[in-house]
Amino acid sequence: MLTKPKKKQVSTIGLGLIGGSLAMALKDVGFKSVIGISASNKTEQTAKDRGIIDQVASSVAKAVKDSDLVFICTPIAAIESVFRQIAPRLKEGCIVTDVASTKEGVVKLAEKILPTTVSFIGGHPMAGKEKSGIEHAEKELFKDCTWCLVPTSLTSNESLVQLKEILVLLAAKPIILDAATHDKAVASISHLPFLLSAILVNTVSSQPYWDTAAKLAASGFKDVSRLAGGNVRMHTEICQTNRVNILAILDEFLRVADELKQILKSNDQRQLSDCIEKAKRERDKLYSLAENS
Ligand code: NAP
Repeated sequence: MLTKPKKKQVSTIGLGLIGGSLAMALKDVGFKSVIGISASNKTEQTAKDRGIIDQVASSVAKAVKDSDLVFICTPIAAIESVFRQIAPRLKEGCIVTDVASTKEGVVKLAEKILPTTVSFIGGHPMAGKEKSGIEHAEKELFKDCTWCLVPTSLTSNESLVQLKEILVLLAAKPIILDAATHDKAVASISHLPFLLSAILVNTVSSQPYWDTAAKLAASGFKDVSRLAGGNVRMHTEICQTNRVNILAILDEFLRVADELKQILKSNDQRQLSDCIEKAKRERDKLYSLAENS
């Protein structure tokens, strides 16, 4: 168990946007020893040179062997291999967590591969940006962000409390939910918005008048297309690992889009204005709630 969290050793496996930002944030709140490892020497060297981590480990197994807390911040596809490498080397009582954007698959793998002598809690910070890599890492990335925590059959109550306390130190807002609920919720609030952004760009950029339209692109197009400029590998992995939930919400989206299309076809001004008004009401409610919380 982590008794005095800041005095303990933390490992960050993967030092990109999320792992690099996390290492910075942990050091910023006073963690004494942050060990990191990434896929490339270049990223590891940058992390060391910029003081983002204290030490580079020579292997994933060595990165975790004396650590009390391990954050896995790699692409989703690398997590199974990381679990297999760390499983025999984890210290008894160690807390292991991850940051992957989808949770059901990761939780199943953890329960299958990790030893029962450690506590695994699935994690997902609802923070990020369109740029990836350590060069875009920043220590404030998790400030005020909701951080999903997904308890598993390997989670002890004490470790959950400790991890929550650590996230609060980083100014994040931990929220506890199960993997299935998480994946369904992010399909609609995160993955659908990304797909709509990509569909928008692909639709309008393939029109014969795109050159002219592009010259007229102002803040509205920039806002709605922002997500389409994100990390290709990450979004591909997200669509693959949350395919079923994404397909369900895409069907719903197509139904609502078709309703709007029928309203436009019938040229019913009242229905059109009701539809636009409903969306405005829901959005205003969401953001005024967020601002007042
Ligand atoms: P990223 O900037 O591309 O960083 C990924 C890092 O993982 C890179 O530093 C890469 O190393 C490293 N890596 C790859 N394979 C590895 C391996 N086998 N062992 C050790 N390190 C390895 O991506 P990211 O945005 O930080 O995303 C990381 C995770 O966070 C993903 O699971 C993603 O789903 C999740 N997430 C992302 C966001 C977001 O908005 N970006 C938000 C929440 C959660 P090199 O740099 O050396 O190549």
